[in-house]
Amino acid sequence: MSKKHIFNYSQEELEKNLEKGYQSKQIYNWIYKQYTHNFEDMNNIGKNLRQELADNYTFDGQEIIRKQESKDGSIKYLFKLKDSHTVETVLIQMKPADEKASPRYTICVSSQVGCKIGCKFCYTAKGGFVRNLEVGEIVYQVAKLKQDMNLEAHKAINIVFMGMGEPLDNFENVVQAIRIFSDKDGLNIAPARQTVSTSGISPKIEKLGELDLGINIAISLHAVDDELRTKLMPINKAYNIKSVISAVKKFPIHHRKRLMFEYLVIKGLNDDIQSAKKLLKLLDGIKAKVNLILFNSHEGSEFKKPDIKKVQAIRDYLNSKGLVCTIRESKGEDISAACGQLKEQHKNNTI
Ligand code: SF4
Repeated sequence: MSKKHIFNYSQEELEKNLEKGYQSKQIYNWIYKQYTHNFEDMNNIGKNLRQELADNYTFDGQEIIRKQESKDGSIKYLFKLKDSHTVETVLIQMKPADEKASPRYTICVSSQVGCKIGCKFCYTAKGGFVRNLEVGEIVYQVAKLKQDMNLEAHKAINIVFMGMGEPLDNFENVVQAIRIFSDKDGLNIAPARQTVSTSGISPKIEKLGELDLGINIAISLHAVDDELRTKLMPINKAYNIKSVISAVKKFPIHHRKRLMFEYLVIKGLNDDIQSAKKLLKLLDGIKAKVNLILFNSHEGSEFKKPDIKKVQAIRDYLNSKGLVCTIRESKGEDISAACGQLKEQHKNNTI
């Protein structure tokens, strides 16, 4: 019988599966707080239980094969999975204004190998869809990065499901990973620090909202009319802007939070004030925050990076009308920050 990946299991599941399941709290503590990835070293756990764990579970199956560090401190990791497919995870460091304060970390996780959605501006989309990640393959990305960076267990980090794949297309596994991330005896990442970013699969947004997990949601909007959005994101044919907005309006958010809308600004397509006016109208009545992201040109892309002045003009216009809007700092530009690029370079042996 092949061994099971320990990162697939919630504390409650381990409790049920193990002979002395009441010790699952200690097991979680070892794995996620002490970063011990070896059952033998869990010395406050009885010998028999350690043996039971070693006989049935494994830490193996996923390893870091590439690491690329950006000048701004962001680090992109390439993980090899048990079937030799690869996925990327990015650690983003935000340096606070006060130089003495420690940096804030956000981990951008992948949820699928490849992606079905086929957004025209996306590097990952080029490789098509391969498979969903298992729960443990998602959880391990965070546990391993924390261990690799030697981050103190209590250090608060943020998670964004914004790496490779459409998280809502791997719904059950992503929800289980969110629950494991939130476990106070484990990684202890509060739901309010977790964000699911979606291309806008309306029924799944509603389903996620109904679970009321306390997490944030970010919608990749990118266009304000259906014609352009369908051109950029074919998913818009199935779930148009109206249906996405109607689903997101039902999503429960914490009173101090906002629904996030990502707007990728592409030269000559959606970088004009007219688009900004339509965006304002579209989000009227929603407690929203808009993140403007400058399209990052990559090889073979038909789109171009916009002029920063035009992006600033959109931001200033929206802010002047009371819609919170920021320009998302492009982190790790020098390490090809678009998801899927490290994987591609590795495949082509260019790094
Ligand atoms: S942008 Fe996201 S949803 Fe769209 S194809 Fe790329 S990975 Fe998939």
